[in-house]
Amino acid sequence: MAAAVANSSGQLFQLFRSGEARTRNDLQALTGLARSTVAFRLDALLRSGYLLEDGVTSEPGRGRPSVRLRVNDAQTTILVADLGATHGRLAVCTAAGSVLEERVIESAIASGPRVVLDRVHKLFERLLRRAGRDRASLRGIGVGVPGPVDHETGRIARSISMPGWDDYPVADHMQEIYGLPVAVDNDANLLGLGEQSAIYPDVHLLLFVKVGTGIGASIVVDGQLLRGRYAAEGDLGHAKIIGVQEVCSSCGAVGCLAATASGRAMVRDLSRLGHQVHTSREVVALVRQGNPDAVRIITEAGRALGSVLSTAVSLLNPEVVVIGGDIAHAHEHLLGGIRETLLPLTQPLATAHLTVAPSRLRDHAGIAGAALAVREKIFSAAAVDADLERRARDQQSVVGDVILQ
Ligand SMILES: [Zn+2]
Repeated sequence: MAAAVANSSGQLFQLFRSGEARTRNDLQALTGLARSTVAFRLDALLRSGYLLEDGVTSEPGRGRPSVRLRVNDAQTTILVADLGATHGRLAVCTAAGSVLEERVIESAIASGPRVVLDRVHKLFERLLRRAGRDRASLRGIGVGVPGPVDHETGRIARSISMPGWDDYPVADHMQEIYGLPVAVDNDANLLGLGEQSAIYPDVHLLLFVKVGTGIGASIVVDGQLLRGRYAAEGDLGHAKIIGVQEVCSSCGAVGCLAATASGRAMVRDLSRLGHQVHTSREVVALVRQGNPDAVRIITEAGRALGSVLSTAVSLLNPEVVVIGGDIAHAHEHLLGGIRETLLPLTQPLATAHLTVAPSRLRDHAGIAGAALAVREKIFSAAAVDADLERRARDQQSVVGDVILQ
């Protein structure tokens, strides 16, 4: 299928990404393009660093050995930020997803986009230097945020969980600094994408639930995120639970799942009981110490999550439900609570083969997902063609300047 329509350099590049083509001859056989056309397109891909030569391959009966070509993702650098409500993680990665440098940052999302993104920019520069990568190898930026994002424009769709970020153009902000493609997405989306790709590559439908300061979820189908029309998909934290009287501190409604099962709700409940806790991580620490209040509260949170998840599981029939986020670090009690309500409330057909598991990538899932989103952004056929066109234009204008002088 791909071969029938492959013509542009970007489209030919996809045949190397999928592994269908490994040599010049493969490309010609797959596309039926003239030898000169293939040579011209490949030259552009090699010169601009999308492909590199990687030894020779000799196949029996195919005549002389031919040069093997492969996607140059190890030398291509990307910068990714996984920003939560209270802290985040920044990394310099290769486009293949290997982390070269990484650091955890405290970043109060409530201090607003300019403060947070300027800090991210400064630290990106420092990390890039530490990784020993030059600016020329940099191809794209990825940012995960703890709120809904308009995927097409990279703007924050709505900001009840991100005060001061309403409609903020995060992608444009980073694009202005770096002049490179920027992928921006909701953190739960990136967590789900990262986990699915690294741990469950063959799973058809995966549901990822992030339990951190708030609660969010994502649905990954055959490696692709399922998106709603207005970026509100996966906003499980504000599903209502009948009987819960607590007011949700982010949306103000009564009875939200997040008002009873989020890290913020657990901090509130434990504080009321006289415990000195301020963050999700401190809640987890208390659970780990075996504190009976903390264990009871996290188990109850799990039960509330399980009852909401029973609807999601009945509707979607996922093979895997992954629980991630800070609170999932105390997963024995949380998952115990989830199973307690999820299983009896859901038809056995939907749960017989269902895996409910803590995130295996843990704190790295967001970085892995953001790197994946950037790779798709910079290596898609359209992106590669646009980049090559821009390079050709730049070259022409340089030549023009020289002639004018
Ligand atoms: Zn709410």
